Amino acid sequence: MRVLRRGDGGPAVAEIHATLAALGLLPPVNGHAPVFDEAMEHAVRSFQQQRGLITDGMVGSTTYRALRDATYQLGARPLAFMVSAPVSGDDVLHLQEKLLELGYDAGRPNGVFGAQTESALRGFQRDYRLTVDGICGAETVRALRQLSPRARGGRPVLLREQERVRKAGPRLRGKRIVIDPGHGGHDRGASVTGIHEADLMYDLARLLEGRMVATGMEALLTRGPGQCPDEAARAHFANEEGADLFLSLHSDGNASPLAQGLATFHFGTVHGTSSTLGETLAGFIQRELAVRTRMLNCGTHPKTWDVLRLTRCPAVRVEVGYVTNAEDRARLSDPGFRDLVAEGIVVAVKRLYLLGENDQPTGTFTYEDVLRHELAKAE
Ligand SMILES: [Zn+2]
Repeated sequence: MRVLRRGDGGPAVAEIHATLAALGLLPPVNGHAPVFDEAMEHAVRSFQQQRGLITDGMVGSTTYRALRDATYQLGARPLAFMVSAPVSGDDVLHLQEKLLELGYDAGRPNGVFGAQTESALRGFQRDYRLTVDGICGAETVRALRQLSPRARGGRPVLLREQERVRKAGPRLRGKRIVIDPGHGGHDRGASVTGIHEADLMYDLARLLEGRMVATGMEALLTRGPGQCPDEAARAHFANEEGADLFLSLHSDGNASPLAQGLATFHFGTVHGTSSTLGETLAGFIQRELAVRTRMLNCGTHPKTWDVLRLTRCPAVRVEVGYVTNAEDRARLSDPGFRDLVAEGIVVAVKRLYLLGENDQPTGTFTYEDVLRHELAKAE
């Protein structure tokens, strides 16, 4: 196309003027045909700056394409993969970002509808029981809009997270874990006869911190003994610290003194989109602790609690026994038992980073094995 600049007029200039007006960079046309004047040149420069284009105030083919792309809003037209003439636009970019957010690998979001965008879209349509046609039409747009931007899960997420863990390597050294002792301060948690969940979990967190640090990991606690940040603050702390893992420690309480046992929770909804590394880690922790402590195994479960939902890294919450159960309480009150729990958790975390390469049976991989492995790899 001919490069348009200040002083030009005609239908092409009118079209560009209308686009800049629609983007809010120029006031709407007031009757007569617009000319490429100083105000329009200024608007073009602003647009170019926003988009990272060369800021020359003229409209050549690159700026023209970018202007046209900017006018497309998701849902305004159907989107599909066309091999000979790929569709581009801000609507495509928006679609790619949505798919990525939901865990579908649409590739780098570049605003061009390519083969990878199509396969990600088909995956989404399949999982959400829509017509699997690879076309982003009204039905798909509606489904995308209804989903919370924080929704996570799906196999692609698992694969990408696994890839990240594989790349991070099997060593614990240099990895950062945020340990979250539940409750604290005035909130004592489940309590019976002077024994409080908040204190037990703080002590467990310190034991775990010591063992984690000895392996070369960085360990951070979400609270001091007298503090009780809310759940969202604990999650944000982990995000701000760039945690690789988040581990929340609790003990349960129940009106029935018979309720007892060990359970582990990870992020997930009942719809089954919970296959994340959080789930994998929850499984390792639950198995190691069940075998080592011989507590009643109450299994792993998906939950949408804030500490699991708002953390960006794999996050797990363990409920180590019931303070309200005499048997569990006696064990929890024993520092040796808490140390056993800490050891089991370190081994479970190590197993996560080994990605199944270590086939030692659950409960037999010791803390000394972990340290030996760390030292051997350090050489
Ligand atoms: Zn609790």
